[in-house]
Amino acid sequence: MGTRKLTALALGATLLLAAGSALSDIRTISSRGEVYVPLNNIAPYYGMQISQTGKDRIQLKNKWHTLEFETDSRRCWINGALVWLNNPVRKIGWQWALKDPDFAKTVEPSVRPYAFLKNAGSRVVVLDPGHGGSDTGATSPRKIHEKLLTKNIANRVRNLLQARGITVYLTREDDRNLSLTERGKIAARRNADVFVSLHADSAGTTAEGAGTFILALPQHYSTHSYGKGTPSATSHPGNKFDLANQALGTRIQQYLVKSTSQNDRGVKRARFQVLREAPCPAALVEMAFITNPKEERFVLSKSGQDKIARGIADGIAAYLHDISRAKK
Ligand SMILES: [Zn+2]
Repeated sequence: MGTRKLTALALGATLLLAAGSALSDIRTISSRGEVYVPLNNIAPYYGMQISQTGKDRIQLKNKWHTLEFETDSRRCWINGALVWLNNPVRKIGWQWALKDPDFAKTVEPSVRPYAFLKNAGSRVVVLDPGHGGSDTGATSPRKIHEKLLTKNIANRVRNLLQARGITVYLTREDDRNLSLTERGKIAARRNADVFVSLHADSAGTTAEGAGTFILALPQHYSTHSYGKGTPSATSHPGNKFDLANQALGTRIQQYLVKSTSQNDRGVKRARFQVLREAPCPAALVEMAFITNPKEERFVLSKSGQDKIARGIADGIAAYLHDISRAKK
């Protein structure tokens, strides 16, 4: 499929994005009372070229960033990492468009995190090794428990971050039961600026890959329940950090899949309790499916553990760097 240039067209009303940032505005269009941001307007906003790169792919690109959107789909790739949109990219009239707030709260904090992190803290990272004690989490074919793996990776991520001079605490230092509420409270007591919960997934023997979850936006579906029932309108404590959550989640996923070359399951949204109750920007990493023998081998190998820990640590460090850039 050849590359076809689409012409940008300025159409419709202008939406001021209330992000508490130095953000200017972008042109939007309305359809049936809903607000959309055409990809044709996002391209000039970022100084990007827009082109159709496949039957169902539209790419926006400049020297620094590449955005790729799949039409009629919630999948987009931001600098190569999969980020799930809240709603599919839809054709409105003659042009493909994102529904608000997929531009303002998903794409923007992923592409320009520094524009939204002026008030974010950068001193203390709290890592949360999932499960513990009688709560073993998932079990691998060779009977390795998730709780041991999450602790192992947490130790490694801590070492890597401490080597960069970053202060790191763990929610648990030993193999003990710890309630989900207590994990958030520990983060609050430590004055955490970043909270990252570590988990491994389980689902049969063929599912594979790494994904990073952030808290679902109020009035929007979680990634896996899209279109089912009515999404919760409740705003949880963690929703105070929606933009920073996205910036953090995107950074971790980008660096994790780059480091491990795992199947990229993307940045997804869910209403997990540790994310709802997080006292600061937060993400939950599902590092692999340990019920899949191939991924089990990977996570039990020293090189696999090194790659996973390095990816997560690099992602957190990149997010902290975005904050330092925001404060300049
Ligand atoms: Zn788990």
